[in-house]
Amino acid sequence: MTKYKYYYSCISCGKKYYDNGIQYLCDECSTNNTTDKPPKGILKLNYDYENIRKVHKNNLFEHLRDERYLSLLPIKSLDSLSPLRVGHTPMYTFKSESVLNTTNSYKVLIKDDSLNPTYSLKDRASDLVSAFAKEKGIATIVAASTGNAGSSIAGISASQKQKAIVFVPAGAPIAKLLQIMHYGAQIVTVDGTYDDAFDLSIEVSKKYGYYNRNTAYNPLTVEGKKTVAFEIFEGLNKKVPTLIFVSAGDGVIISGLFKGFEDLLKLGIIKKMPRIVAVQSTKSKNIIANLNHKSFKKFPATTIADSISVDIPRNYYMARQYMLKYASIPLLVTDEEIIEASQDLSIKTGIFAEPAASASWAGFIKYNKENVIADNSKVVILSTGSGLKDIKNIQKMYDLPAPIKSILEFRNTDSNNK
Ligand SMILES: *Cc1c(COP(=O)(O)O)cnc(C)c1O
Repeated sequence: MTKYKYYYSCISCGKKYYDNGIQYLCDECSTNNTTDKPPKGILKLNYDYENIRKVHKNNLFEHLRDERYLSLLPIKSLDSLSPLRVGHTPMYTFKSESVLNTTNSYKVLIKDDSLNPTYSLKDRASDLVSAFAKEKGIATIVAASTGNAGSSIAGISASQKQKAIVFVPAGAPIAKLLQIMHYGAQIVTVDGTYDDAFDLSIEVSKKYGYYNRNTAYNPLTVEGKKTVAFEIFEGLNKKVPTLIFVSAGDGVIISGLFKGFEDLLKLGIIKKMPRIVAVQSTKSKNIIANLNHKSFKKFPATTIADSISVDIPRNYYMARQYMLKYASIPLLVTDEEIIEASQDLSIKTGIFAEPAASASWAGFIKYNKENVIADNSKVVILSTGSGLKDIKNIQKMYDLPAPIKSILEFRNTDSNNK
């Protein structure tokens, strides 16, 4: 038996890749990929779970926690990771009665991943990709992105003295574009779609030997995002949550959540998987709408929540496999519900989330109207990105009051004393 820390396996044909080199998609299953269908041949990382159990016989989870899950990451040393604080984000606890119109009493836990260095959960993937590139001696990382993945790899690369080249479609939100440039990354705006940017970035990384961070195409993106599952488990004192609400676009974050809990399941640390609720917009529903179909049919995405506006989900096959295997609950919300939920979240909790991140809160509100969540449940809502990244959609909701001349003219508009 060869000694390995991890190996890649194809989720379609099962082919295994042991050499620990750079491998993106399965050589065999990806040969017929076209840009109008989700890519086949997505690779998953596997570890020597038996050996990890043997090495840390007692208090296995505590050992893993103390080594920041290094045994379950495809890198040699934690020193390879960014010096910035990636992950370790707070999980806030609220009582259900204080944030919802409900008489049932349970815990609502918001895992706020907007508090990552570049203000989105994408940093978990970028950090691992960057560390891996560092260990392989590659100094330049390329990515195609609609915004957050690009600003994330730009920031993390800056912290690691690596060069980032980011291909973006010209229409991404301005805050994200400026963020990419401000970190000193090279930005290439593509006169075309995200798919065009995606293909171009792959050509460039192949031609020049750069490392490619494209979501799902690089199997380390799911792997990096799985740490959020470990942290949720850690934050609940080693309890599996009853429900987790997460928004889905390309299906990498949701797969990362499943992968993290599945690793714990394989290690015997947990006995059952959590129920994960996948939330998409009715105007970008390509994972949910295809979940029970054999062949993929595209519904053009037009949602205002740009980070989950996806025509061809890049991680469709893995997300689907996980969702069907572990009985995930699909939930569609309208764009109006997303915008309302974004305001509701801010008012009720003080958290400011971008529309794509508020979709999980919208899903939670909707789920509550249609289902009873039992007393003493633990419900986690994943907030994936900061509200400051995309203010265009909430700007319309407000008219700034006209400036007043002096303090004496101040009227408390909430007061009943006319
Ligand atoms: C990328 C992103 C998502 C969706 O993640 P996928 O892996 O594409 O499903 C959700 N919210 C925010 C803020 C994101 O940046």
